[in-house]
Amino acid sequence: MNLYALSDEISRLHPEASALVGAPQVEVLASLAWYLRQLDSQASLALIEEAEYLITSGSLPEDQSRVVRSRLLLTQAEIAALTRDFELAEQLLLAARAGFVLQADVTGEGDSYLVESVLALEQGDMKRALSASQSALSRFEQGCELLRILLAQAWHIYLLAFSEPERARKDLMLLVSTNELKHPALAALIAATQAELLFTTEVARSAVLYSQASELAQKAGLIRLAIMAACNAGVALQKLGDFDAAATSYDWAVTRARKTEWPLMIAFSLMRFGELLRHLNRLEQSQQVLEESLQGLIASNHGIHTAIAQAELGTTLLLRGLPKQAAAYFDTAIALYRAAGSRGNLAEHLISQARALSAAGEPMAALMAIDEARQLIIELSSDTLHIDLRVALAEIYARHELPYSFEIAAPNLVLHFLEEALIVGNGLQGWQAPATLLLSLAEAWSAVQQGKKAFEYAKKAIAADRRERNKQAENWATLMQVRHETERAKADAIHHQQMASASLETSQTLKLLAKVGQEITADLNFKNVCQSLQRHLGSLLGAADICIWLITAKSGELELSYCVEGGVAISPTLSPNENKLRNAVLCIGQRDELVCESDVSATSSQANLFGPLIIADRALGVIAIQSTNAGAYGERERLIFRSLCAYGAIALDNAYAHDQLQKTQDQLELALKELEETSLTDPLTGLKNRRFLIQNIENDVALCIRHYQLNPNDKNRIPKDADLLMFLVDLDHFKQINDKYGHAAGDAVLVQIRERLQQVFRDTDYLIRWGGEEFLIVARATSREIAADLAERVRLVVADKNFLLDGDLLIRQTCSVGYACFPFVTAHPRAVSWQEVIDIADIALYAVKHSGRNGWVGLSAEEHAWPELLLCTLKNDPKGAILNNELKLATNKTPQLVIDALTKKQSIN
Ligand code: GH3
Ligand code: MG
Ligand code: MG
Repeated sequence: MNLYALSDEISRLHPEASALVGAPQVEVLASLAWYLRQLDSQASLALIEEAEYLITSGSLPEDQSRVVRSRLLLTQAEIAALTRDFELAEQLLLAARAGFVLQADVTGEGDSYLVESVLALEQGDMKRALSASQSALSRFEQGCELLRILLAQAWHIYLLAFSEPERARKDLMLLVSTNELKHPALAALIAATQAELLFTTEVARSAVLYSQASELAQKAGLIRLAIMAACNAGVALQKLGDFDAAATSYDWAVTRARKTEWPLMIAFSLMRFGELLRHLNRLEQSQQVLEESLQGLIASNHGIHTAIAQAELGTTLLLRGLPKQAAAYFDTAIALYRAAGSRGNLAEHLISQARALSAAGEPMAALMAIDEARQLIIELSSDTLHIDLRVALAEIYARHELPYSFEIAAPNLVLHFLEEALIVGNGLQGWQAPATLLLSLAEAWSAVQQGKKAFEYAKKAIAADRRERNKQAENWATLMQVRHETERAKADAIHHQQMASASLETSQTLKLLAKVGQEITADLNFKNVCQSLQRHLGSLLGAADICIWLITAKSGELELSYCVEGGVAISPTLSPNENKLRNAVLCIGQRDELVCESDVSATSSQANLFGPLIIADRALGVIAIQSTNAGAYGERERLIFRSLCAYGAIALDNAYAHDQLQKTQDQLELALKELEETSLTDPLTGLKNRRFLIQNIENDVALCIRHYQLNPNDKNRIPKDADLLMFLVDLDHFKQINDKYGHAAGDAVLVQIRERLQQVFRDTDYLIRWGGEEFLIVARATSREIAADLAERVRLVVADKNFLLDGDLLIRQTCSVGYACFPFVTAHPRAVSWQEVIDIADIALYAVKHSGRNGWVGLSAEEHAWPELLLCTLKNDPKGAILNNELKLATNKTPQLVIDALTKKQSIN
């Protein structure tokens, strides 16, 4: 009797079981029951009953019946293990082994150890599973049965892959290099081992290997392995973003597991499926599936898997907006992880718990969960959990106003934690900030009016999103490549030489397709993607008539977006194509290819091939191609078309996302501009404010200084308009207007001042509301020689024409102007700062105010003046400075009055 039998062996035994009688019949029944133990446990148990009846009715001699009985017991033991009746399984196992030992049947004894290994695995006891498989190997070696020896080795290495991957890798190499491993059971175990070992480094290969392992295991009747491998293939496919294939894999696993009635396999495959559904945002279904999984696990009392299912369900409920229920599930999961000492899982789910509690309105409890998680994470030194913890904290503080007792540099706690998450991540090798984190940062900075920072993060988020999408396209391409390689390898093995030429052609097409895929998905512009599709559909399938419909976001209906007739792209609006649209709708409805062949006339016919554009589980649109040859679209053409549609879907989705992001980016840029504009503008008058001056003046000052420094010894070479003229304008007795006519009247005057100043100065000059009724004007690139003229024009433009107030009230208003020019001492352009020049203009303004108002005063330095000295005397003894010929005065007032006023200011100071 073998360990596993293939289907032809089983079909051979079936008729024998009913045809034979006596001892041979009992033996066939026992073999059949053994082979069917996983394939069909119920049928196996029925056969056992039949065999036992025959044994008890005396059909077998004593010693023969003992061996057969042991085999029947062992078969029952494995079935009991899989249905999780562990006590019974242990008893049956011991009894079976005792029988084999008594008969000195080492092979039977070895088999009993392999069954023990399965039992241990069901109980989650890897140590026992490993040691049992080791014992099986030693018994088989005594029995010298090569296939069993190899199977025991392969089983042992498969188990090692989960606990000691490095050793598994070495042992596997040795096994594979020294043996021929054709038997499906062996091949299945090896494929599953390789898949597990490659899971973190080469997901695409791992996915394909797991799928293969599942198929092979089915053939050999290793159904438990087949289900596990299908689930793991699903996980890998999901990681690669091939959700369709993942769903197919899980679906098979769930269906097959239900047939077995093994609770752990049912629950396990349901759990995976439920997780995928959540990923696809089918939250209600996810909840249902996970609930069923959990019930199964609780009933079969499986600790750690129960914890995982509780946590999965919690996550789904949290996303469904049911935080209270989610928190309850996290609670149970946490208790189970705590009991099992599983600290990594514990920390992870304490964070989930905190998010649920916060969403449920219990911030203090949330922070307590975070505290415990933090402690654990420090002990475990898990960097990725450090990041998750901070993101969760940001979420909590964004939702609740909570007191805190630590110092932060960021404007608020949300930003503090998000920035910290980024810092921790950036410290990790190979870590790249996910788009979601960067987007949260952009939003948080934008919320505190820090447009520039928000914009920077938004830009980074866009880049990250693009990178993540490209990665997905790349994954997908790799998966296709590996799948095709595997298909080819299979084809080679089956058809050998006769297939060589065909497979060469296929392989060349596939290589080409992979390249084409990269080309199509590389572009982010919608039109370029369509053109690229047109080119490849033309060259690979000879398609000259192409339609691409996309589902519009607005109406959710198909809209013709790209159209090619006779090899030339035409405007989609010119193409009626009603018939085709109907078929396209059909195609998207059934989410499958559609071939429509029709006779156009008695002599000509045509074929249309429609392919849905699907990404993950989202349908984007349909591509259709047309041929005048009715039979144009065979298997090969459809394979190529299918690949191009798949690549097209990725590319169009990328292009759409890119377009959306571009729009967001443009909006952000605009918003930022507006934000800057408003933050630099005075809302009442529309003039610029102080912030504007501070942001811009340095450039002007630098340019000005450059002009003067380039030609220090040759005054004539300094451009005439190299100066910055600074005028301070203050309205005279403005308070009286407010007092007399009201504040609104005052406002009206201030608003009108703007256009009057604009009449005097150029658009490029800076007109700034400096304070309440005080204005600063910086005339740029202007000669200081016209400063007095400008000051007089300002005085006149205000004083000469009355201001119109509400209705028909006219009032007179004058102003005082003080000015000074930059550089103040031309021989030493850097010596007096622009701020000091404004201070000097202010002194001048003061002098006007105290010599009758409605006038102007300009102060300038004599060429030979010492800047430091002059600054000092300006403040302490302006009159002396003027008399000493260090300071020059320009005014429309009586100079002596002005000088007296200056002296008065000095005495006030
Ligand atoms: P002086 O000729 O000495 O400058 O006299 P003044 O009354 O103009 O100067 P003072 O500094 O005593 O008063 C300035 C007034 O300007 C006080 C305040 O009520 C008024 N003011 C400041 N900002 C605004 C504003 O935005 N709107 C209005 N309506 N009035 C303002
Ligand atoms: Mg005033
Ligand atoms: Mg004032």
